[in-house]
Amino acid sequence: MIKMPHVIPSYSRFPVTFVRGEGVTLWDDQGKSYLDFLSGIGVNNLGHCHPKVVAAIREQVGQLIHTCNLYRIPLQEEVAKALTESCFAEQVFFCNSGAEANEAAIKLARKTMHERKQSHRYEIITANNGFHGRTLATLTATAQDKVQRGFAPLPSGFKYVPFNNAQAVEQAVGEHTAAILVEPIQGESGVVIPDPDYLPALRDIADRHDLLLIFDEVQTGMGRTGRFWCHQHSGITPDIMTSAKALASGIPMGACLTTAKVATAFSPGSHGSTFGGNPLACSAALATLSVIGSDGFLQSVTAKGEYLLQGLKHITAKHKMVIDTRGCGLMAGIQLNSPAEETVSICLSRGLLVSCQMGTIVRMLPPLIVEREDIDRALTIFGDVLNDLF
Ligand SMILES: *Cc1c(COP(=O)(O)O)cnc(C)c1O
Repeated sequence: MIKMPHVIPSYSRFPVTFVRGEGVTLWDDQGKSYLDFLSGIGVNNLGHCHPKVVAAIREQVGQLIHTCNLYRIPLQEEVAKALTESCFAEQVFFCNSGAEANEAAIKLARKTMHERKQSHRYEIITANNGFHGRTLATLTATAQDKVQRGFAPLPSGFKYVPFNNAQAVEQAVGEHTAAILVEPIQGESGVVIPDPDYLPALRDIADRHDLLLIFDEVQTGMGRTGRFWCHQHSGITPDIMTSAKALASGIPMGACLTTAKVATAFSPGSHGSTFGGNPLACSAALATLSVIGSDGFLQSVTAKGEYLLQGLKHITAKHKMVIDTRGCGLMAGIQLNSPAEETVSICLSRGLLVSCQMGTIVRMLPPLIVEREDIDRALTIFGDVLNDLF
């Protein structure tokens, strides 16, 4: 056990301390280097200390860090514009985390129905094993016992259905339903990729029943899957979308994006955040968005993602205890038929950072700036660990 007498032990931590990062590499306090194939859980999509992000933050921090939302923040307007240019959305609300972005989305869905004089429609359908955050509303949206246990009474107004089953959503719709909230790919539950017709079927259900469709792109967005937003693989758009994690490359920031029509449900006083969209976070987000939107960037994510997935499939094919190897862009999950913790900690000891999800799945979220040589090195380490363990 590591001793941290003054920190509430709400995480189990590996006994390693990183002191410096550059690109895909992290160094610990012993001088040992690591290949970071987790990116701070999908936050460091541009790798560590990307020069454009560092320069933008450095300049902003010496000029103005925070002002609050009682005043105009031109940088916030610029980030909002850039975000709307990347997708269906026309307006954006800024906050500081994924949970807060989803909290905003949930409030916006309820308020939309209230404004339509349909206050009896407050229920939000979410999918089993999804993940939407740790606030009371978002942990209730998160249909996982391990996240909810001990926190009763939970807010009412959530209904759960199996993921990747549009028929179950259709059957769950009732007179109280306001919205459907899902991740386009479930990240925390181990990169669970639905069938291609799932999101279009949800769009169709939402349209037929006049519901709001909400996509949680906190993990799948910001280029992670080879499109700016994961739902852009599907050909349909949601009514509300949330982002956070990689949005400002590690400066805390979340966003709830929507159409101009849905946004009218929020008026001055409806919702707020002291820090949300402050100049410092916005400077980091603007730099991040410009890199992800630059020519050829997303195509390179797709190409490198395919390279990683092919490499993983090649390695795992000869191991019987690997049940499934899947991925989309630079998001990959390797499902074992036995606990994956040991695999992950041996990878760490050999200089490769990956995570264990749902007990038996190894997840990889390398930075999007990863090079093929880095992928080759990671595959070698991972392949050796599997060979030695199984
Ligand atoms: C990480 C995550 C969240 C929660 O984000 P926080 O910033 O930790 O509140 C919500 N939804 C998804 C899909 C996530 O991956």
